Amino acid sequence: MDVPYVDLAAAYRGLKDEIDEAVSRVLASGHYVLGENVSAFEEEFARWVGTAHSVSVGSGTDAIYLTLKALGIGAGDEVITVSHTAVNSALSVSKAGAAPVLVDIDPENYCLDPAQLEAALTDRTRAVMPVHLYGHPCDMDPIIEFAERHGLQVIEDCAQAHGARYKGRSAGTVGAAGCFSFYPTKNLGACGDGGAVTTDDTELAAKIRSLSNCGQGKERYHNIYRGEVSRLDELQAAILRIKLKRLDEATGKRRWVAAFYRERLAESGLILPAEKEWARHVYHLYVVRSKERDRLQQFLAEKSIQTLIHYPVPVHLQPAYAGEAHGPLPETEAAVGEVLSLPCFPEISSAQLEAVASAVALSAGNI
Ligand SMILES: *Cc1c(COP(=O)(O)O)cnc(C)c1O
Repeated sequence: MDVPYVDLAAAYRGLKDEIDEAVSRVLASGHYVLGENVSAFEEEFARWVGTAHSVSVGSGTDAIYLTLKALGIGAGDEVITVSHTAVNSALSVSKAGAAPVLVDIDPENYCLDPAQLEAALTDRTRAVMPVHLYGHPCDMDPIIEFAERHGLQVIEDCAQAHGARYKGRSAGTVGAAGCFSFYPTKNLGACGDGGAVTTDDTELAAKIRSLSNCGQGKERYHNIYRGEVSRLDELQAAILRIKLKRLDEATGKRRWVAAFYRERLAESGLILPAEKEWARHVYHLYVVRSKERDRLQQFLAEKSIQTLIHYPVPVHLQPAYAGEAHGPLPETEAAVGEVLSLPCFPEISSAQLEAVASAVALSAGNI
């Protein structure tokens, strides 16, 4: 049996009639940018996350970049974040002109280790950006406490964490702003690029909104900032509104997949993802860990089971970031050689899950 890593076409098929109708309606309306679907989606997404505002933008990378820019963070400033993440986390900081200062992770949840913050602090530090990696929230209380003690902003990278909760609080409601991506493979994915910033800060929301739309003020063709063109379009917003209505159900399916793996892989010898007692994990990725990772991946591929590595090269070892200062990153460097993401998506069938579990069991004496 073929088990793809993810099946976006299956997700579309499940909603085809509704999506096709919504897309046709937008096309027929003649209104393609900043229309009623974008406003409605922003309202619905803010309500779903639990913030006063949500501002849609062109991508998750831009959500972070525009938030930093709106907070006045740029050249000469430092933002503490992790090296074990999608390179986009660092790219957005670089795009703002600031320097990402990369710290190590807690190997139990693959998220920023708050114990590393103190050593990364300099007189240029302006913000901390925890990344809720794989769908598990970061341990936010010590991060917030550190930030308050040093007068720093906290910006949450929520690109993989739609619906994740920290001590009952939704990802995107804890820091000054939550930055989401709607890249197609994300837990809430568009049929193209998109992103959003959630915040309770009315002024910050207004500034990000302006920056994303050329820097325009309240009046058309009157510019207060040198802004960007980074907007969600009506087609994507119409599709996201449909998918948002099913997001809780889809997250439930991801958690069901994780529960299946937890039970069936318990004796596999693999290190399985942990869910801290204060966390609600949304399993954007189901990441196991093995010293035999490469051979396991090869073995599964021979059985037509597709897996991926998130991420094979940490930010500090990317050629693009050569020479950038960072502290010791032993946990990051150990993890990148051992992590493997198993197929985990809401449309996966029981038979496909069985195939993965059997193949992993079979790998035990054979790799
Ligand atoms: C996907 C992702 C981003 C960037 O989102 P885009 O919409 O692709 O720009 C940022 N951070 C993390 C952790 C991501 O996974």
